[in-house]
Amino acid sequence: MIYLDHAATTPVAREVADTMYDVLLNGSGNPSAQYPYGAAAKKRLDADRAAVAAALGCKPEELFFTSCGTESDNWAIRLAAHQNRHVGRHIITTAVEHSAVLESCRQLEQEGYTVTRLAPDRNGNVTAQQVADALREDTALVSMMLVNNETGCVFPVAEVAALLRERGSKALLHTDAVQAFLKVPFRADTLGADLISLSGHKLNAPKGVGALYIGPCCRAVRPLLAGGGQERGLRSGTEATAQIAGFARAVELRLEDYEAKLAHMAALKQYALDRLLAIDGVVRIGDGAAPHILAISLVGYPSANVVTDLGGQGICISAGSACHRGKLSHVYAAMQLDKKTAAGVLRVSFAPETTREEIDALVSALRRHRETRFPML
Ligand code: PLP
Repeated sequence: MIYLDHAATTPVAREVADTMYDVLLNGSGNPSAQYPYGAAAKKRLDADRAAVAAALGCKPEELFFTSCGTESDNWAIRLAAHQNRHVGRHIITTAVEHSAVLESCRQLEQEGYTVTRLAPDRNGNVTAQQVADALREDTALVSMMLVNNETGCVFPVAEVAALLRERGSKALLHTDAVQAFLKVPFRADTLGADLISLSGHKLNAPKGVGALYIGPCCRAVRPLLAGGGQERGLRSGTEATAQIAGFARAVELRLEDYEAKLAHMAALKQYALDRLLAIDGVVRIGDGAAPHILAISLVGYPSANVVTDLGGQGICISAGSACHRGKLSHVYAAMQLDKKTAAGVLRVSFAPETTREEIDALVSALRRHRETRFPML
């Protein structure tokens, strides 16, 4: 199989599975238990939290494990709205966020909030100036993703943080960094965001684990889950120790030869782009700078057909987000692509282990599809 859909999810690394297996078999005590078996689980959990926090550039006590990126996004938006309920009921976000953010904002809208959704330009970019123009006295939250999952566009979150500081805004800044963590270098302690969402399964960790960074500006945080007081009383529930250990191990693995991995993915993306654009009818979508995500369109050739055809040949790429339940993706709709271009959008996403041979196989298969199938009318 040639797997080129790493923005959707990633395979669990062998070392990660081994670590989890060890925790499941030998270290599955309850971290809250008082006896040594529990204390050992607590020690391991502390070490895992420290490892992920170090990679993110924050203190371990600022990092809270969750079950996924979606949960982190939901929690971040709820807690910011709650903390800033006296500031006002205005939220700024972008029209191209993941649905975990958009739907959370929509829920708040139903509760009386006003939501400004910043439109991207035709390349998929959103600027800090757009935030500046939309900012109000009563803005309680700005939520802007760091890397867009469909275009790979990197958004100016640090610039927005600086802008909020300059303006003396009380708005909290949340960034969904699910696609950015360990793909685009940034540190929590310099980025300036108050809340940062992460997810394990985009980094060769298993599904079912994520994290939320909660910075020092978030005081009196409302607990997400009430109960036994785990995660410093903010997200109760016995910790998923094996998943968390897998997350920490995956982070450690990513950090080995980190710069070389990023450079490899960036070079591979350029290699893929050059060859894909040589196919008649292929155009690039957006100008995303993230090294692992490339969006293109085989204009006029419905992406669902391409994905099925290539899938049958063992090549996995995505159109899923492009055509969600038969509807055009909100991202491409916001970018105002014309109908035929939007219909043909494909996302190719890479990992550090992706090879040029895999890209060559994709290019040949796509070329064959173009030559043997009919475009839409
Ligand atoms: N945010 C972004 C940008 C994503 O790409 C995804 C997953 O695709 C999520 C959030 C949701 O993460 P999870 O699948 O861990 O819930």
